[in-house]
Amino acid sequence: MTQPQTRRTFLAGLTAASAILAFSPSARAWLSQPDAASDAVCLPSLDGQLLFAPDDLAAAADDFGHIVHQTPVAVLLPGSIDDIRAILRFANAHRIPVGGMSMIGNTHSVYGQSQVEAGIVINMASLATIHEIDEDSALVDAGVRWIDLLAATTPLGKSPPALTDHIDLSIGGTLSVGGIGGQAFRHGMLVDNVLELEIITGKGKLIACSPTHHADLFQAALGGIGQFGIIVRARVRLIDVPGMARRYTALYPALVDLMADQEKLIDDGRFDYLEGFAQPAEGGGWVYQIEAVKYYAAGEPPDDAALTGDLTFAPSTLTVEDLTHFDFTNRIAPLVALLKSVGAWQLPHPWIDMFVPGSEAASFIQSVLDQTTPDDMGGGPILIYPFKRAAVTAPFVALPDEPTVYLFSLLRFAPPPVVATLLAKNRAIYETLRDLGGKRYAASGIPFTSADWHDHFGALWPAFAHLKHRFDPRRILTPGPAIFD
Ligand SMILES: Cc1cc2nc3c(=O)[nH]c(=O)nc-3n(C[C@H](O)[C@H](O)[C@H](O)COP(=O)(O)OP(=O)(O)OC[C@H]3O[C@@H](n4cnc5c(N)ncnc54)[C@H](O)[C@@H]3O)c2cc1C
Repeated sequence: MTQPQTRRTFLAGLTAASAILAFSPSARAWLSQPDAASDAVCLPSLDGQLLFAPDDLAAAADDFGHIVHQTPVAVLLPGSIDDIRAILRFANAHRIPVGGMSMIGNTHSVYGQSQVEAGIVINMASLATIHEIDEDSALVDAGVRWIDLLAATTPLGKSPPALTDHIDLSIGGTLSVGGIGGQAFRHGMLVDNVLELEIITGKGKLIACSPTHHADLFQAALGGIGQFGIIVRARVRLIDVPGMARRYTALYPALVDLMADQEKLIDDGRFDYLEGFAQPAEGGGWVYQIEAVKYYAAGEPPDDAALTGDLTFAPSTLTVEDLTHFDFTNRIAPLVALLKSVGAWQLPHPWIDMFVPGSEAASFIQSVLDQTTPDDMGGGPILIYPFKRAAVTAPFVALPDEPTVYLFSLLRFAPPPVVATLLAKNRAIYETLRDLGGKRYAASGIPFTSADWHDHFGALWPAFAHLKHRFDPRRILTPGPAIFD
C-alpha cells in the first residue's frame, strides 16, 4: 500500500504520469498503475476523457476574475450525461470535491466560484447541444451558451424572455447564480424562465424536475450556486419577439432624477428593456445614463416622443439607435473583442454586484459613488437599474424584502497591485449594504465565509442546509464559494 501523500507530492506525481487509471482512497492519490496500492479503485470507464495535463489543470485553476487560483486534480470532459453521473458517484464514494465549470474560453466567475481545489472540475462546454426548439420552449444542454440559443431562435422570431448583458455565458452557470439583465423588471431573472431541469445530484442520481415534479430540487438548483447538483439539461421558456430594437440613451446630472424616471418606466412598462449607468463626469464626479429599449417589427418604428417626451434627462444628450434584436442582445460582443485586443479583458476583475432595497437605493448608491473614483473602476462599467422584487421567484436568489430592488454593480478592471485594496473596499461596501437589508449577487468578488453565507440566506438557511444534506450529503459539490466549510 502506498504511503499517504501531501497534495503537493501527489500533484507532482500526476505531472509525470502518462495515464491515470485508479485512485487510492487511503492515500488520496491518483495512480497510473491500478495495482500500485492495495486499496486502489479503478476510475469509471467514460465516454469522454479525464484530463490530468498541467495545462488543463492550470486552465481550470483560473477564471474571469484572475484573483483566486485553486488547482483541481483532474478535469472531466464529459462525453455524455452518464459520464457526469459516473464521476459524481465515484467522487461521492471517495469524498472527492467536484464542481461544474463552463470552460468556454474561460469560466466567467470572478472569485473562484467554479474552481475545485484538489478535486474534479467538470468542463460543461463539451455537452452543448440544443436538442429541441418548439413554440414556447427550448431543450438545451447546460453547456450551451445563451448566444448560441439566441442564434438558433432568432430566425424563428423567438427569444428567451430575459437575458444577461453578456450572452456568451453558459446556461448551467447562469442558472446556478440567477442571471439578471434589462428585462428583469418584467420577466425576472433567467432562473424565473425555466420549465424543467435535469440534474445529477451530489449522490450521482439523475433527476428530472420541474415546478410540479421534484419541485424542491428544481427550486433549489435555480440560483442554488451549484450546491445541490450539476444541471445537465434545461427546458427554458421562449417568447415571440419582433426583429428590431430601438435603443434610447440619455444623461442625467443627478442620480435621483435617473432613478425617478427608471421607477416610472418599470411601473408603466412602456419599454422592453431598461438599464442605467454611472459614468465619470467631466470635471469629476459622476453623470448618469439611462438605456431604454423598445422592440418593434421592421417598418413599424416606435413613437419616440410618446416614449421619451415626459422623461427628465438633458434633452441634448438623447441618442436613438436602431439595431436588430439579435445585435442589440449581443451588443457587448464588439466591446469584448476590443477589450481583448488591448489586453484589458485579461486584467483581474474584483467585481461587486449588489441588490439594494429601493428605499435605501438613492442614498446608498450615492454614498458608494462618492467614495469611488474612475481609477477604482479601471474603465469598467457601473450598473444601476431597478426591477420588481415580485418578478423573481427563485427562493435562493436572496433579495431585499421590498417591492422595488436595484441592481448596483461596480464592474472593476484592476491592475494586480490594487486588487487586494479593491477587494477590501468590496467587503466594506457589502457590510454597509447588508446592514441596510441589501444582498450580494452570488457571482460577485467579495471575501466571504460560511458564516457570511448563513447570514446572507437568513431565514432560508435551514432549508438551504437541509437540501444540501439531502442531495449532497458528503458536501462534495461546488466548494468554490465556501458556503459549507
Ligand atoms: C463579462 C461578463 C458579463 C456578465 N454579465 C452578467 C449579466 O449581465 N447578468 C448576470 O446576471 N451575470 C452576469 N455575469 C456573471 C455571470 O452570470 C456569472 O459569472 C455566472 O457564473 C455565469 O458564468 P459561467 O456560465 O461562465 O459559469 P461558471 O462561472 O463556470 O459557473 C458559475 C457557478 O455555477 C456553477 N456551475 C457551472 N455550471 C454548472 C452546472 N451545469 N450545474 C451546476 N452548477 C454549475 C459553478 O461551479 C459556479 O459555482 C457576467 C460575467 C461576465 C464575466
